[in-house]
Amino acid sequence: MAHRIAVVPGDGIGREVTPEAQRVLDRCGEIWSFELEWSLFEWGCEYYLNTGRMMPEDGLEQLRQHEAIFLGAVGYPGVPDHVSLWGLLIPIRRTFQQYINLRPVRLFDGIESPLRKASAGELDFVIVRENNEGEYSEIGGRLYRQTEHELAVQQSTFTRRGTERVIRYAFELAQERNGVLASATKSNGIIHTMPFWDEIFAQVSADFPEVETGQYHIDALSALFVLKPQSLDVVVASNLFGDILSDLGAAVAGSIGIAPSANLNPEREYPSMFEPVHGSAPDIAGRGIANPIGQIWSGAMMLEHLGHPEAAAGVVSAIERVLGETSIRTPDLGGASSTAEVTDAVLGALNEQA
Ligand code: ATP
Ligand code: MG
Repeated sequence: MAHRIAVVPGDGIGREVTPEAQRVLDRCGEIWSFELEWSLFEWGCEYYLNTGRMMPEDGLEQLRQHEAIFLGAVGYPGVPDHVSLWGLLIPIRRTFQQYINLRPVRLFDGIESPLRKASAGELDFVIVRENNEGEYSEIGGRLYRQTEHELAVQQSTFTRRGTERVIRYAFELAQERNGVLASATKSNGIIHTMPFWDEIFAQVSADFPEVETGQYHIDALSALFVLKPQSLDVVVASNLFGDILSDLGAAVAGSIGIAPSANLNPEREYPSMFEPVHGSAPDIAGRGIANPIGQIWSGAMMLEHLGHPEAAAGVVSAIERVLGETSIRTPDLGGASSTAEVTDAVLGALNEQA
């Protein structure tokens, strides 16, 4: 049985790291006997500059025909973020009800964390970010433009259904892992939506008496990420807080170039989407030096979702071996290797498992 995968390399280094990750995933198919049937969609900012749209009008319909979506990154100098985000990424996440954004953070052997004294085994947690609503909202506006009374208002939307389902997912994940769940809010400053989140968190927690919980203010939790990340197992947060925490998590794990993410529709009613945490990195695009590991690890999460956990584990252990046993790494990790050389090394480590 072939898995039909839509691949959207997007812009910048997305176009460089996506084909590299596809090489690794195709090799997994040969080793573990499955087939990936890729359909390539060259959408993104270049498409926008030619057509005025980030994707065709029936783009979502085309994507819906696939089992999963493998995305690189979108963004291009001169194209405002609200165009690239609201023209492609956010419609995909919302239409396909990918309400879970799962972002593992792990320090590998052979990588130095900027944190003092952190070593590999001590940093291994997952961020569960709400991915469909919250602070990222179109509701709001500006009044009294260019006067001294000018003001901007941005509303956030937290629904009971949306809040409860992401919190429940995080509890289930904590139960499967080490049974510790941290929740990030800011209920002392944001006095409607955040206490609502806290209240639902407490209600759901009654169904998981064996999970140890911590409810933190986002500022205190950010400090904890730096001072004592060993204590983290699963972290659940709103759309904005989860976004910020995952860049912080990627940074303490050594480089944003490594961090993977999954946009999940757990009910599997729609395709889920897999993409690295990093963006299109225009500052290094076109030079063949982007770290492909974030894209490759995102591909491993996709294999897990497609029902191939042994292939997913194989890819992660190939990454572990390359980082732990060789000095092959891209410049973001202090090395001098190219994107393709790192991919080749991962393929080599994978082949030893064949
Ligand atoms: P976007 O708006 O597309 O999210 P951004 O500018 O917010 O882009 P990134 O594209 O993630 O953020 O880049 C942030 C920094 O991290 C840049 O300096 C970039 O060069 C670096 N970076 C991001 N991804 C990688 C990678 N895969 N390998 C090496 N460096 C990377
Ligand atoms: Mg970014």
